[in-house]
Amino acid sequence: MPDLKPILIVGGGLAGLALGLELRQRRIPVTVVEAASYPRHRVCGEFINGRGLEVLERLTLQQQLLQAGGRWAHTAAFYVQGRRPVQQRLPQPALCVSRYVLDDLLAQEFRRLGGELRLRERWSQGYDDEGIVRATGRRVQTTVQGWRWFGLKVHARGVALKADLEMHLGIDGYVGLCQLNGECNACGLFRTRTPLPRLALQWQEMLRGEPGSELRARLGGAVFDDASFCSVAGLCVAPYGADEPDECALGDTLTMIPPITGNGMSMAFESAELAVEPLIRYSRGERTWEEARSGIARACRRRFRQRLRHAGRLHRALFHPIAKRLCLAVLLRFPRLLRVSFMLTR
Ligand SMILES: Cc1cc2nc3c(=O)[nH]c(=O)nc-3n(C[C@H](O)[C@H](O)[C@H](O)COP(=O)(O)OP(=O)(O)OC[C@H]3O[C@@H](n4cnc5c(N)ncnc54)[C@H](O)[C@@H]3O)c2cc1C
Repeated sequence: MPDLKPILIVGGGLAGLALGLELRQRRIPVTVVEAASYPRHRVCGEFINGRGLEVLERLTLQQQLLQAGGRWAHTAAFYVQGRRPVQQRLPQPALCVSRYVLDDLLAQEFRRLGGELRLRERWSQGYDDEGIVRATGRRVQTTVQGWRWFGLKVHARGVALKADLEMHLGIDGYVGLCQLNGECNACGLFRTRTPLPRLALQWQEMLRGEPGSELRARLGGAVFDDASFCSVAGLCVAPYGADEPDECALGDTLTMIPPITGNGMSMAFESAELAVEPLIRYSRGERTWEEARSGIARACRRRFRQRLRHAGRLHRALFHPIAKRLCLAVLLRFPRLLRVSFMLTR
């Protein structure tokens, strides 16, 4: 076999590690450079919905994730204060799994397959050289039309849910709840026009929701596991441009889908999957870097176009007071539409 060209992946999150794993399964030399280390908590609703589950199955990781505390979610419920909730069976089960477990497992597997993992190293060079894949997560945007978007997440004990996935919609944010192994993950997306540091002491209140709300009924008496708390700011929740001209970008770096869909992890896995064949051909010298890079960008655009459009509309509606109530009223009358919405974002 001729010499294989190496691939350098910057970012050991879901997209970077899934790609690294698939390439190592085909014996391509791969290095992943990661700024942090494992295990670590991440701001995430921690449920995987959609085609990314097929990638996990192909990587033979689903079983291990279930053994490590993952749970299948079969039902979802939406709550708006003062309204009857909308509850439905999901068209297909979603997998609830802690990122503390998931990222660590992927990293271990990558190493087991002979991948080189360089931890606590922040890449500061460019991304336009041959053989470099950028999977560094979201592109930071401080404000979007005057709003600052941020995410909060914590694990909690002593919470009983009425559906496997619960989404509680507030005025300037929503909180998703799902059951993990003995704990509940509470993760919220919020927006504010005030500077963020003032919010630093309010995170518990924000996640617990308004007094009198269903969210408060779930989390009012919950015990938060402070060690699992994390936050993220600078989110750009409107889908951004699908590709930079000279970069080979995957996952959130490529584009970010609004979290309400629970599809970001799936897109990270899927974009990695779409990159595998072109990168193998590049590594073997059967394609130029430019052919591989532009082929990956095209395939991702095709795969994600429709769901980004649908998710963008849904996201805008949920942050519009009238549209939000209208959506809920329609869903109460035609609950099956909730299933259709899930199908459109997968
Ligand atoms: C509030 C919120 C809730 C969400 N809930 C869900 C959900 O329930 N379900 C779902 O599917 N998705 C959800 N998502 C989205 C999901 O978390 C992301 O889409 C997913 O993590 C993207 O994976 P990634 O690999 O692209 O990026 P990441 O997982 O962010 O990984 C990027 C990695 O790159 C590293 N890195 C960054 N810069 C450098 C550098 N210069 N050098 C080296 N390393 C670097 C980082 O340390 C990180 O490990 C949610 C997102 C938010 C904000």
